Amino acid sequence: MIAVEGVVKRFGAQTVLDGVSLAVAPGEVVTILGSSGSGKSTLIRCINGLERLDGGRITVDGLDVADPRQLAQARRLSATVFQLFNLYPHMTVLRNVTLAPEVVLKRPRAEVEAEAQALLASVGLAGKADAYPAQLSGGQRQRVGICRALAMNPRYLLLDEVTSALDPEMTAEVLAILGRLAGRQMGDGGTTMLFVTHEVEFARRISTRIVFLDQGRLIVDLPTARFFADDGGLAHPRIRQFLSKMA
Ligand code: ADP
Ligand code: MG
Repeated sequence: MIAVEGVVKRFGAQTVLDGVSLAVAPGEVVTILGSSGSGKSTLIRCINGLERLDGGRITVDGLDVADPRQLAQARRLSATVFQLFNLYPHMTVLRNVTLAPEVVLKRPRAEVEAEAQALLASVGLAGKADAYPAQLSGGQRQRVGICRALAMNPRYLLLDEVTSALDPEMTAEVLAILGRLAGRQMGDGGTTMLFVTHEVEFARRISTRIVFLDQGRLIVDLPTARFFADDGGLAHPRIRQFLSKMA
């Protein structure tokens, strides 16, 4: 599991994560909600070992991400899709998806390409394998980004506002794919998902648990139904305020 224990992260004088603890167990779909600037992306970056912690500890299946050697192993267990499409512009869609499994996991090209083609087909991009990112719509690019993450066959899939740069139609097409993934995963206990999103209704539908970050503090961590109960998450004024702004 992903275990975040008492994590503190500062940028200069600003404490961005203030003693955050969170556990994500296999098979869970956990959504992180919170206003802009509350520390959601920083938390994802800390789990990826992209930020040095000022306090606390993060482990992925027991591997401490603060230790470079353990981090290298931990990175094989999880894959992240970010808000901005960070596809390689000079590579085809297929190459974007096959690069990491081939180079990092050292798997044979033919096998990896066959899997990549199947993944692309599963998100409706069968015909786009030889296209370049610039030839795709934003929604198509983000679907490639998801395929690229899944090609690593990760135990943990981390998603940081993957639809926030998309228009409503493209958002819907990407959420449909993520919803399908989450549904399948809840069934077979496969890839675990940690989700940052502003799509509250979607989170409500697919999450097993919802946590709420407020100014770097994790103030609520509840099963989804409890989060939306008047005497659960909604009892917190900050959460009510957040949800009313989203509606
Ligand atoms: P969220 O993803 O919830 O919108 P972020 O984690 O991106 O929030 O940012 C939390 C706070 O940390 C913000 O105030 C942001 O300005 C600050 N911050 C994030 N990254 C950096 C950085 N590299 N240097 C300085 N401040 C940062
Ligand atoms: Mg963010």
